[in-house]
Amino acid sequence: MDLGLEGRRALVTAASKGLGRACAAALSAEGARVYIAARGREDLERTATDVNAAGFQSADVSRPETPAKLVEDAVQALGGLDILVCNAGGPPAGTFESTPLEEWEKGFDLTLMSTVRLCKAALPHLKQSEQGRIVVITSTSVREPIATLILSSAFRTAVVQTLKTMSGELAPHGVTVNNIAPGRFLTDRVRQLDGAAAAKEGISQEEYTERNVKATIPMGRIGDPAEFGATCAFVCSKHASFMTGQTIVVDGGQTKGVY
Ligand code: NAP
Repeated sequence: MDLGLEGRRALVTAASKGLGRACAAALSAEGARVYIAARGREDLERTATDVNAAGFQSADVSRPETPAKLVEDAVQALGGLDILVCNAGGPPAGTFESTPLEEWEKGFDLTLMSTVRLCKAALPHLKQSEQGRIVVITSTSVREPIATLILSSAFRTAVVQTLKTMSGELAPHGVTVNNIAPGRFLTDRVRQLDGAAAAKEGISQEEYTERNVKATIPMGRIGDPAEFGATCAFVCSKHASFMTGQTIVVDGGQTKGVY
C-alpha cells in the first residue's frame, strides 16, 4: 500500500531512541523527509544517520523557549512542514503520595506544555500542507490510570482533551490531530522502570518484564517499537485523512476498557 508519504516533511521530537525513533524510522522508510530532535547529541547523531534524517537538533522540548525555535529550524531545513510527531521523555514514576510538588510543575512543562508549544508553533505551517498531520505519543494511562505513574496519567489526559478540542478546530483545514497510546514496548524507558521495580523485589529486570508481560498482556509478549512506528506512519498517511480526534491504543490487548 502506498501511504502517500513520499517527500512529506516531518518533525519528530524525542526521537533518538525508543518510540520516537521508531516513528522517524517508519516515516523515513516510506519516503518522508524527517527532522529529529532529542537532548543527548550522541544517540541523536547515530539515529539521524540510521534513519537518513534530513536534519537534527539537540533540543529539550520541556523548556518553554525550545519548541518555537525547533519548529522554525525544522521548517527551514525541510522547506515546510506536513507532519508533527510530538514526543518527550516520560515523567518520573511515582504515586500521589510519593510525588513531590515540584515534579508536578516539571511534568506540566514536559508532558502537556511541550505538546501545546510544539503544536502552536507548527500550526501555521501544517495549515498550508495538503496532508497536515499531528500525532502525539501518549500512553494507555489516558484510558486506565496507572497507580505508579500519576504524572503520566494526569498530564496525558490533559493532552488528549487538548488534542480532541484542537481536532475540531483544525478539521476545516484538513489537518488531522490524533494520539497513539502505547501499552508496553521494549525501550530504554521500560527497561529502566522495570529495572527499578525488579531491584525492589531482588530479581533481574528481564525476569520482572517477562513475568509482568505474561500477567498483563493477552498477546503474551512485549511490543516491538517498529510496530508502533508502523501505526504512526499509517496515521500520517493519505489513507488516514478522515480520522481525527482519536486515541489509537497499541497495547497487545492489555487495556480492558471498551473506550
Ligand atoms: P525512551 O526509550 O526512554 O526514549 C525517550 C526519547 O526521548 C529519547 O530519544 C530521549 O533522548 C528523548 N527525550 C527525553 N526527554 C526529552 C526532552 N525533554 N526533550 C527532548 N527529547 C527528550 O522512551 P520511550 O519508551 O520511547 O517512551 C517515549 C514516550 O512514550 C514517553 O513519554 C513514555 O513515557 C511514553 N510511553 C512509553 C511506553 C513504552 O512501553 N515504551 C509506554 C507508555 C508510554 P534524550 O534523553 O537524549 O533527550
